[in-house]
Amino acid sequence: MSSNNKLGMNHDHVGGHFKWEIEPKCCSMLKDAVDEQFVFVSNFTDEKFNQFYIMPLMANGELFRSDGLPIHNCPWCGEKIRARKLYDSAKG
Ligand SMILES: [Zn+2]
Repeated sequence: MSSNNKLGMNHDHVGGHFKWEIEPKCCSMLKDAVDEQFVFVSNFTDEKFNQFYIMPLMANGELFRSDGLPIHNCPWCGEKIRARKLYDSAKG
C-alpha cells in the first residue's frame, strides 16, 4: 500500500488508513472511491455518520479549491451516504 498524502491532509482523513465501523453500502462505487482516494472521509460527523467530501481538480490537475467539497449523497447512485469510521475509543 502506498502512502499517498500529496494533498497534505491528515493521514486519518485518507482512504486506506482507517477501518469502517459502518461500510458505505449504497453501491460498490463509493467504498472503492474511498479506497482509491477520490472520495475522502472527514472526522466530522453529521448526526452519527462521517462527513464525506471530494477534492475537485481543474483540467490541469491543480486543486480547484484548497478545502474539500462536502457531499451528502453518493455521486454514483444518489443514495444518502451512511457510513462511519471505526474509532479505537468509540463508545456509543
Ligand atoms: Zn452509491
